[in-house]
Amino acid sequence: MSEQTQSQVIGAQPPPAADDQGDVPTWELLRTCVHCGLCLNHCPTYKVLGMEMDSPRGRIYQVFNINEGQLAMGESFATHIDRCLGCLACEIACPSGVKYGRIVERARAQIEQKYHRPFLERTARNLFYRRIISNFATLKFVARMMRFYQRSGLRAVARGTGILKLLGMADVERLSPQIDKEFFFGEIGKVFPAAGERRGKVAFLAGCINNVAFSHLNHATITVLTQNGVEVHVPAGQGCCGALHAHAGFRTESRQLARNNIKVFLSGEYDAIVTNAAGCGSHMKEYDDLLEHDPEFAARAKEFKAKTKDVTEYLAGLGLRPAKKKIAQKVAYQDPCHLANAQRIRTQPRELLKAIGCEVVELPHADQCCGSAGVYNVAQNDLSMKILAAKMDDVQSVSTDMIATANVGCMIQLRAGMEQRGLKQPVKHVVELLEEAFS
Ligand code: SF4
Ligand code: SF4
Repeated sequence: MSEQTQSQVIGAQPPPAADDQGDVPTWELLRTCVHCGLCLNHCPTYKVLGMEMDSPRGRIYQVFNINEGQLAMGESFATHIDRCLGCLACEIACPSGVKYGRIVERARAQIEQKYHRPFLERTARNLFYRRIISNFATLKFVARMMRFYQRSGLRAVARGTGILKLLGMADVERLSPQIDKEFFFGEIGKVFPAAGERRGKVAFLAGCINNVAFSHLNHATITVLTQNGVEVHVPAGQGCCGALHAHAGFRTESRQLARNNIKVFLSGEYDAIVTNAAGCGSHMKEYDDLLEHDPEFAARAKEFKAKTKDVTEYLAGLGLRPAKKKIAQKVAYQDPCHLANAQRIRTQPRELLKAIGCEVVELPHADQCCGSAGVYNVAQNDLSMKILAAKMDDVQSVSTDMIATANVGCMIQLRAGMEQRGLKQPVKHVVELLEEAFS
C-alpha cells in the first residue's frame, strides 16, 4: 500500500476499542504518526536491515493493521516488533510527538496475549519473566547455579572445548552477567546513615539482576549517597520494578510488581525513590501509564512517578560535596537510551563526571543504542552484535582512558564489545567513578 493510501486509511478508520487495562495501542496513540519518515534514519534496526517493516513508521503501520484486522497476528508481526530495541531514538526524532514506546509496549502485550509462540521460546520466556525475575527466591537459586557454572571451572571447559561455538551460544554466554560472590539481598531492609550533616533521605530500589550480579554497584550507590549527606533506606518487601516484563509484553505481571513497589516505597517519608538503573527508572516513571485504569493505584502511581529519580539526576540536583580524590582521566560517556531518550537525562551524568575531575570525551552518536536493550542482546543476538559493532567503531574513533555509562545492561554490552575488539580501556558506571572519588 502506498504511503498516501496508508494515510488515508488511517485517517478514515474509527478508533479501535481499548480494553479495561489499556493494553491495546489505541487510535489516540497511533493517529499522531503522519508518516513523514523523519524517524527512519535514527532507528538502529532500520539502519542495519534497511526494511520499512523494521522502522518505527513501518511498525506503527503494522500495529494499525493488526488493530483493524487487516494483518494477521502471527510470526511476521511478532518478528518485526521483537526486533525493536525500544531505544526510543524515534520518539526523540519525531516532530509529531508520537509516543512510540507506549505503542510498542502495548503491541507486545497483544502478541503475548494472542500469539502462540513456538514451544521452546514460550517456555523460556515464561520461565524467565514469570518465575525467575519476578521472585527473588527463584532468582537467588538460579544465580547460585550460574555462579557454580562460572566459578567451578565448568565455564572454562565449555569455552575451551568450543562447544559453545558449536551450539551457537558463544556470544550469548559472553553476555551473561558475572554472578557475585555475595548477593545484595542481605542489605534489603537496612538503613544507611548520612555522613555528616543530613542533606536528604531517600529510598533505594535495589533492582533484580543487580542483587546477584551488580551488588558492588548497589553498595557504591549507597556509599556515594551517604558520603554526600543522604540517608539511604533500602525498604524491605521491595521487588523487581517490572521493566523487563513490560518491555516483553507481560504488562499484567509488571502491574503486580508495580503495585507492590508503590505500597512499599510510599509507606515511608522519603525525598526521592532512587535507582541506579536507567531501564528501571524509566519504567518506574511510567507506572502512571501502566496503572492508569486501576482506581486504587492510579493516583498513587503518579505520586510514585514524581518521587522517582535516577541516582545521577538526584545527585546533580543535590550538588556534590567536594570530592576526596580527583579522577583525572579522559572518560567517554555513552548515554543509556532509557536515561537519555526515555528520561531526557543527558547533562547530569556529564556534570557529575566533570565535578570529580574527569575530562568528558564526547563519543560520536553517544545517544545511539549500543544494542543491549534489556535482554535484546541475548534474544536478538545477531542484530544486537551488528548494532554493537557500529558503537565500537565510534568508541575506537576517540582517544579515551575509559568508557562510562549509567546502566548495567549497557556496561555488559560495551564490555563484550571491548573484549571482541581487544580494547583494554575499562567500562564503568558513573557511580563507580563517583565512589572512587568519595572513598
Ligand atoms: S513516528 Fe513520527 S517521525 Fe516517524 S513517521 Fe511517524 S510522525 Fe514521522
Ligand atoms: S525504539 Fe529504537 S529500534 Fe524501535 S523503532 Fe524506535 S528507533 Fe527503532
